[in-house]
Amino acid sequence: MSSEEDPTLVIDDGIAKTNEPVSSSVAEPAAATRRHEPHEPARTNLPQRLYEKREFVHNKRIDGPFRRFKWAMMAITLTIYYVTPWIRWDRGPYAPDQAVLVDLANRRFYMFGIEIWPHEFYFVAGLLIMAGIGLFLVTSAVGRAWCGYACPQTVWTDVFQHVDRFFDGDRNARKRLDAAPWTWGKVVRRAAKWTVYLLIGFWTGGAWIMYFADAPTLVEEFWRGEAAPVAYITVAILTITTVTLGGFMREQVCIYMCPWPRIQTAMLDEKSLIVTYKDWRGEPRGSVKKARRQPGQFGDCIDCQQCVQVCPTGIDIREGPQVGCITCALCIDACDRVMNDIGRPRGLIDYATLEDCEREAAGEAPRPIWKTILHPRTVAYFLIWCSIGLGLLFALGTRSHTDLTVAADRNPPFMLMSDGSIRNSYTLRLRNMESRPRDMTIALEGLTGGVLWTDTISKEQAAPKQTVRVAADQVTTVRAYVMAPPSTRATDFAFRLTSLDEQGEFDIGQARFEAPGENP
Ligand code: SF4
Ligand code: SF4
Repeated sequence: MSSEEDPTLVIDDGIAKTNEPVSSSVAEPAAATRRHEPHEPARTNLPQRLYEKREFVHNKRIDGPFRRFKWAMMAITLTIYYVTPWIRWDRGPYAPDQAVLVDLANRRFYMFGIEIWPHEFYFVAGLLIMAGIGLFLVTSAVGRAWCGYACPQTVWTDVFQHVDRFFDGDRNARKRLDAAPWTWGKVVRRAAKWTVYLLIGFWTGGAWIMYFADAPTLVEEFWRGEAAPVAYITVAILTITTVTLGGFMREQVCIYMCPWPRIQTAMLDEKSLIVTYKDWRGEPRGSVKKARRQPGQFGDCIDCQQCVQVCPTGIDIREGPQVGCITCALCIDACDRVMNDIGRPRGLIDYATLEDCEREAAGEAPRPIWKTILHPRTVAYFLIWCSIGLGLLFALGTRSHTDLTVAADRNPPFMLMSDGSIRNSYTLRLRNMESRPRDMTIALEGLTGGVLWTDTISKEQAAPKQTVRVAADQVTTVRAYVMAPPSTRATDFAFRLTSLDEQGEFDIGQARFEAPGENP
């Protein structure tokens, strides 16, 4: 667009200045923009609006290796999301049999053979850190592959774009229908399409709540109207957000709302793999006819716009790397097809690093792909990611399924019995993290002559060691009474909890025995 066409653009000394919010996705490719300096005279043609009007993206259907890879990724990610809550995992009669479950009521997170308790939240934190570093690793190795193929916003937008195509036809038909007046035919089509939108949103929200309760039971309760109100509210919210973000906002989320493209932009450098238009090969653009008439005057780009028309975010990759490019590579499929048709080499648009582009432009051979992917930063991320993963696996493999916490009664700190013995009272919390009941012993250590009994074991049976049964997958609270001979002084001692099974796990809870008189 020239300055005559755009009143908000000022051409001054051959440099374009603008007060428009210049996103890289809308910037004039040839224009260098610079700030309006304070000493310069005020502009008279100030912009009337702060935001550019959105042009809805009607991307064209395309087939090719990257499109097929996108189909595969869509199938894998959606299958994982919708099917996972229905996978069963036998944990015995005392634990739920859902493979992945966030059990908020009992404060547990189940993931196949792993059960995370609230006091082990560091595992979840570790997994989140691994996910974050995993994203850095992927970005460092293959650029914005996450955005292009696996991000939920990308996947759901793709689904909605295919729904559009199913009801309204491909790009040109959709554009025509959009511009057409509201007839009954258009109303019926729109109603049918938006009903499918709502169904997709509903299934998305419906699948989400199944991660928080037993899926088959919840489905029954949901349709009978007996599920908790929060289930209906969550489904309603997710239906609305899925339809709004994936069905209507689409690429606007990637370009304006999501922080990840900004973070990634800071992480990319000349060694990062990105989708690139090889301008040294493509420019100046000219049709096949023109190139035939004036051989050697034009590059390989025939300005057919196919790469722009298939782009799900509606950008022109020929303007250079930009935040709106999610590196889905559909433009590569489109351009390769054009190059095939006109008999020119493929790869005018390609995955490449800026460094390789420079080499290629200088006539040197591109580096092998493994060298592009395996650079020091990628290796560093990979090592960090592996170390955290191995650390978590080690902690998981060696963690004890038995835990003991001790709280002493403060008031009174001790009681004198009629025979002069001294009694202290404690609240013990015994945690059994196995999904079966277990017998455990509670023993006193470091308290000479001390005996104990509990609310369920009478004083007559008091002994230095008692056996209690701890329910499966539960924390059992035990009131423990510890008695020591009259001459005992205040001292530190310990409760030792030991499981009476082949594992023989134990935990030690430190405590203090209070008694009259000063410490020796
Ligand atoms: S598809 Fe290829 S040839 Fe066509 S405009 Fe895009 S870059 Fe040029
Ligand atoms: S420019 Fe190409 S790679 Fe980038 S979003 Fe558009 S189609 Fe995908």
